[in-house]
Amino acid sequence: MTISNRDIKTIYICPKKGKLDIESSNENGTKKEFSTDAFGCELVIEPSEVLSTYPMVVKIHKTGKKLAEYDMLEGAFVGYVLESAGYEIGDILFESSYYSISLNWRGYVTKMLSFLSAFCESCANGEFSIMKNYLCRTCKYSADCFRETLQGDNITFVRGIKGKTFQRLHELGVDSLCDIVSMHDVLEKEFGKGKADKIFYQAKSILENRCIPFRPLPKLNDGIYLDIESYTPIDFDYLFGLLDDNTYVPFLARNLVEEKETFKSTIAYLMSTNKPIYHYHSYELVRFRKLSKKYNINLPNNLFGRFTDVYKIYSEYVALPLPSYSLKAIARYFGFNWRTNLNGLVVIDSYKDYIGTNDENVLSEILRYNEDDVRATAFLVERINQMREMMSVKDSFV
Ligand code: SF4
Repeated sequence: MTISNRDIKTIYICPKKGKLDIESSNENGTKKEFSTDAFGCELVIEPSEVLSTYPMVVKIHKTGKKLAEYDMLEGAFVGYVLESAGYEIGDILFESSYYSISLNWRGYVTKMLSFLSAFCESCANGEFSIMKNYLCRTCKYSADCFRETLQGDNITFVRGIKGKTFQRLHELGVDSLCDIVSMHDVLEKEFGKGKADKIFYQAKSILENRCIPFRPLPKLNDGIYLDIESYTPIDFDYLFGLLDDNTYVPFLARNLVEEKETFKSTIAYLMSTNKPIYHYHSYELVRFRKLSKKYNINLPNNLFGRFTDVYKIYSEYVALPLPSYSLKAIARYFGFNWRTNLNGLVVIDSYKDYIGTNDENVLSEILRYNEDDVRATAFLVERINQMREMMSVKDSFV
């Protein structure tokens, strides 16, 4: 197995995903620039830049605002591999748009080696515990993990059950899906009707493997669908994708200088009608607020009143046998297919490629991905109305 410095963060957060990712990238053939062996594995370094070779000075590009412990382990990994490969190390630099730091990596080498040894041992035994974490939302293995935990009658992957709720359920003797379904009154007494209903119907939906709308669904009128793509390393919103009357209308900023005018054009388009503006999750709302502040643009009074979060509707009204309520998870569940393999994290790397190469094919793929996102949002709105019709719900509005 070949482990790269780029795998360290994933291994740190979820060793299981780390192993599966490594196996699939090893199949594609990892580029080996500098390497050594340890614990029966090949360790390789993929620096973002090599600034000097005598002594060796490498730079690793990062995206976060500050360094985390896994960054320090990655720094130690880089230093250890380079030194083991016979290089004299001048400096290891970690740089993002928020910091540029010369890493004091030697202090972390012991910890990194024991971390790596534990990981390699788990790989050899094939033993990984599944712990829900923030990578699960976009993880391609989440369906497998979901099934695996449910087979073991483990409820950690059930939506709405984490941290203190999980702990409290355990104290109440609620440890399985069947416990949840048979103890609704206990849940209601402990958490109140709203939360108890959500957990109850979620468990019921998984046990019966079906979609359960558990409150009268709102009527959703025809609208415009909005999805923003951002290049987070420089806080740049470069694409405002709209779907209106089944036509995809992208507003694209070719560089940071064009961001303001592109944002203003998007607002002008949105204000040319009174339709509801559907988006998935709160990101679009947050970015509109942020951009209006950044460019001192007064947004029309009624604009935010038209924003409708489709995620909130699914979250508040519908139970689905899924580990996550991300746009991808729900739309795929109902049969929507994306034309690209991009996701929220990979698209950032794709845009980075585009900046580096100006390859219009890369940009076209990002546009296709964004178009599919707005089409998936429209698809989910249509689904709500279909479910509503099937349930013969009388008019109620968001
Ligand atoms: S779904 Fe979550 S627990 Fe499972 S492999 Fe992915 S990140 Fe790890």
